[in-house]
Amino acid sequence: MSRPVFRFAPSPNGALHLGHALSALTGFEMARRYGGRFLVRIEDIDTNRGRPEYVHAIFDDLAWLGIGWEEPVLSQSQHFADYRAAAEKLRALGVLYPCFATRNEIVAAADVTKLDPEGALVYPGLWRGRSKEDIEREHALGKPHALRIDMQRAIALIREKLGGAALSFTEFDTVGAAQKTVAEPGRWGDVLVLRKEIPASYFLAVVVDDARQGVTHVTRGMDLYAATDAQRVLQILLDLPEPLYHHHRLILDGNGRKLSKSRGDISLAHLRSEGASPAAIRRLLGLAE
Ligand code: GLU
Repeated sequence: MSRPVFRFAPSPNGALHLGHALSALTGFEMARRYGGRFLVRIEDIDTNRGRPEYVHAIFDDLAWLGIGWEEPVLSQSQHFADYRAAAEKLRALGVLYPCFATRNEIVAAADVTKLDPEGALVYPGLWRGRSKEDIEREHALGKPHALRIDMQRAIALIREKLGGAALSFTEFDTVGAAQKTVAEPGRWGDVLVLRKEIPASYFLAVVVDDARQGVTHVTRGMDLYAATDAQRVLQILLDLPEPLYHHHRLILDGNGRKLSKSRGDISLAHLRSEGASPAAIRRLLGLAE
């Protein structure tokens, strides 16, 4: 039997904090326990926010924690053509449409009571079902567009593909027990598949690369639990294999909020500079030494 494949997939737009340490250590240790492989993937599709110095800092922090990974490391910014090709495949299925709406237009039209699982406004469908003429007019004006998935159409197609069976994913826990969970992608609305300024999106790039790298076990924070619903939709439509998922607890700050790079929450580098040892980090995370 081939070995299971685990991965840690940080976005290099800030310094790693304790939450990342928990993610990386969870994946690494599970890989060791199951005799699996462990990969690191740099999720740098957002070339405006990513910085090479953050990439170096990620490797530094991981090595310091005692984590080893396989080389070469995949950087998503090197693979835009593949995300575009995957989007083309979805387009051929008739589930994508161009969206020329600006952020302001979307906010103005959105229903403030309809929020996605991350608390963002659900896209109000401004460009869903628009005529060819409307689309050509915007193209002729040279306006940039994103590509969105018509989620209801995608769900209908999947229902057909699965012969009526529910769309689901399998969550496994640290002792290896698995639980099937029904996915509810409808709550995400028509998510972006290719963004306006970037020929990729988080949802698409993750599924393309988990498949490309043969990832069998996705370990990541609970904050991405609901994202799995939309990712399963893309996997089924693109005929990609289904990995198992483990979403671990989140590390919260003193106010009960998830740690965030953008708020400048205490980084691993800072803890290191204050003299913390890898063993102390593990203790802070509640992991066995
Ligand atoms: N790149 C994502 C992040 O840093 C994680 C992606 C994933 O694990 O699926 O939040």
